[in-house]
Amino acid sequence: MRAHEAGALHGDFASLRPAWLAVPEDVNELHSYLWPRNVKRGADGALEMAGHKVPDLVREFGTPAYLFDEGDFRSRCADWAEAFDFADVFYASKAFCSKAVLKIASEYGLKVDVCTEGELAVALAAGIDPADIGLHGNNKSLGELEAALKHGVGRIVVDSLTEIERLERLAGETGVRPKVMVRVNVGVEAHTHEYIATAHEDQKFGFSLADGDAYEAAARILDGGALELLGLHTHIGSQIFDTSAFEVSAQRAVRLQAKLQEDYRVQLPELDLGGGYGMALTSQDDPEEPAVIAEALRRIIDRESAAAGIPAPRISIEPGRALIGPAMITVYEIGTVKPVHLSGKPDGAQHGPGGERRKGASRLYVSVDGGMSDNLRPALYDASYSCTLANRAGGPAASLSRVVGKHCEAGDIIVKDEFLPADVQPGDLLAVPGTGAYCRSMGSNYNHVPRPPVVAVDETGARTIVARETVDDLLRLDLG
Ligand SMILES: *Cc1c(COP(=O)(O)O)cnc(C)c1O
Repeated sequence: MRAHEAGALHGDFASLRPAWLAVPEDVNELHSYLWPRNVKRGADGALEMAGHKVPDLVREFGTPAYLFDEGDFRSRCADWAEAFDFADVFYASKAFCSKAVLKIASEYGLKVDVCTEGELAVALAAGIDPADIGLHGNNKSLGELEAALKHGVGRIVVDSLTEIERLERLAGETGVRPKVMVRVNVGVEAHTHEYIATAHEDQKFGFSLADGDAYEAAARILDGGALELLGLHTHIGSQIFDTSAFEVSAQRAVRLQAKLQEDYRVQLPELDLGGGYGMALTSQDDPEEPAVIAEALRRIIDRESAAAGIPAPRISIEPGRALIGPAMITVYEIGTVKPVHLSGKPDGAQHGPGGERRKGASRLYVSVDGGMSDNLRPALYDASYSCTLANRAGGPAASLSRVVGKHCEAGDIIVKDEFLPADVQPGDLLAVPGTGAYCRSMGSNYNHVPRPPVVAVDETGARTIVARETVDDLLRLDLG
C-alpha cells in the first residue's frame, strides 16, 4: 500500500484543481506506480523505454503511438502466474488483443479469454491451444458458438437459457459435449473504490443468484446432460480496488456451487472469479499486489468450501487491465497550447516552482494529435489519466493543464487535470501512462482519424506489433 501524497495541500488551491491532485514538487518527476517498469527520464530530460529514447522512437514510428514496454508486461504476467500458482489465470484479451501479446501471455502459462469470433481468431492465429481459451459474452451468435465447438475451446461461459438451448442443439448435431460455466450475477456491484452488496443488479450479464435463476440454469444443464458443467462463473466489474468485493462475490458463488453439488450429487471442479482488478492511472489509485489478492481469495474459497463440506474447486481468474494496462504509454505531439481564463473562479490555476499561487485563474488547454479515438475512457467512464512531457524536462513552474484531442467534440479530453511544465509548447511530446488496456481496443475512426500503431520496445530494439492505420485503409471500405 502506498502512502497518500501531499495531504497537507488539500483545500489550499481549492479552485480548479481536484482535491486528489497534489501540486508537484518537481513537475518532471515520474511516479513509479504510474509508469511502465522500464520507463525513466534520462539525463537529457527525455523519457526512455528500455533504454530507447522516446523522441528517437517517435522519429521512427510517428505520433500518436502506443509504446509497449514488453518487459513490463512479461514481469506482470510472471507476477500474476506466480501469485496464483494454485489457479488458472486467463488474460482477458478484450483489454488489448494482438497476436504478439497473447503469445507472450501464454509463455507464462496464462490462458486466454475471448468474447467474440474476432478475438477468438486472434487467439487461434497466435497459436493458443484452443483448450486454453474461454469464450464469454451475453449474445454469442450461433456462428460464434459453432466456431467454439469446431475448434474445441476449453470453456464456454453461458449467459442465458436461449444460449443453453442453442448449445444443447449444437452438441446434439455435432456429437461434441462442450464444457460450460454458468455466469452468475452475484449481486455485488463494484465501482472502483467501493462496492455495494445487493440482491439484484440491474444489468445484462448473467443469471441472478438471488432469484434462483442461476441455480435453475445450472440444474437445467445438469439435467440435460448434453453439456459438461465445470462450475460457476462470476465477474463483478472493473477497475476494482476493494478486495473485499471479490471476497463477498467468491463467498456467494462457493455457497451456490456447494448447494448444486449436494442436490445433484456431482462434483463441479472449477469456479471462476472473473477479472476487474484495478490498476493505477493517477495518484488516487492504489492497487493491491497480486499476491495479496491471491491470498485473500484462496483463504475465502478454502474456508467456504470446508464449511460446505466440499473439496475446494480449482479457481480461475480473468485479469485484463491489471496485466496490460500499465505496460503501455501513448505518445502524442502537442499541436497547440492555449490558456483559457476562467472568470468567476478564484486564483489558483497556476503555481510557481514551490507551489506558490500566481495571479489569474486559467487552465492550460494542451491539444494533441490524437484524442477520444485512441482513448475513449475519459469520455466514456469519466476516467482520469496523468501525463508528462516526453521529449525534455520542463518547468520548474507548473501549470494546471487539460490535455485534449483533435476531435470535434468538447468532451474529447484525454487528461482532465494534471500539472505540466508552464513552458510546455507546440512541438513538445506528451506521454500518457496506463493506456495498455481498453485504449487501442476501444479505438475508433471518429472524424476519420486512423488508429495509432502499437510498438513493442525492449532492450534489443523496437518493432511494430499492430500497424498504424492509414487514410487509405479507411477509404478502402468506402465503396462510393
Ligand atoms: C472485462 C472482463 C474481464 C476483464 O476485466 P479487467 O477489468 O480488464 O480485468 C474479465 N472477465 C470478464 C467476464 C469480463 O467481462
